[in-house]
Amino acid sequence: MSRFREELKVIPRAVRIIVAFVLLGLSSAFTLFLIFSHDPELIHTPRFGKLLMIVGVGIVPAIWLLLIGYVYADAKRRGMRYVMWTLLAIFIPNAIGIILYFILRDPLMKPCPGCAQVLKSGYTFCPHCGTSLLPTCPHCGRSVELGWANCPQCGTRLPSPAPRTT
Ligand SMILES: [Zn+2]
Ligand SMILES: [Zn+2]
Repeated sequence: MSRFREELKVIPRAVRIIVAFVLLGLSSAFTLFLIFSHDPELIHTPRFGKLLMIVGVGIVPAIWLLLIGYVYADAKRRGMRYVMWTLLAIFIPNAIGIILYFILRDPLMKPCPGCAQVLKSGYTFCPHCGTSLLPTCPHCGRSVELGWANCPQCGTRLPSPAPRTT
């Protein structure tokens, strides 16, 4: 739950305010519609049912807007093409753009232990200060994984545990 809350904080405040207004606007518009409607079916709907309809009418658009706000901010912090992803999330119907985003998004960026610049994942060396970001083979310099006994590229025996990066 706290993880979920952390993720909600990623959504820009402007989007959250817009969502609140959309919810409020749709619910009050629907309330007015219920008050002035002469539809016989609606008149016989129990009060509780009407209340559910008033609350529910804004939920789907609100969640959709929140997800688009999330895609925008999350793609930005991950160093992805956030304008493209936001447009895909908005214009591909049935939320397929949003689902694709969650499947294809890049891992979160991490700060370099040497210079604290925020970097995309997958780099072996920091492009700013040259600090090694992954354990590397002392002989050939290719990246190796923690726990490997030998370098898969040149066969050199690796010190155990494999050399740490920091
Ligand atoms: Zn660095
Ligand atoms: Zn090697």
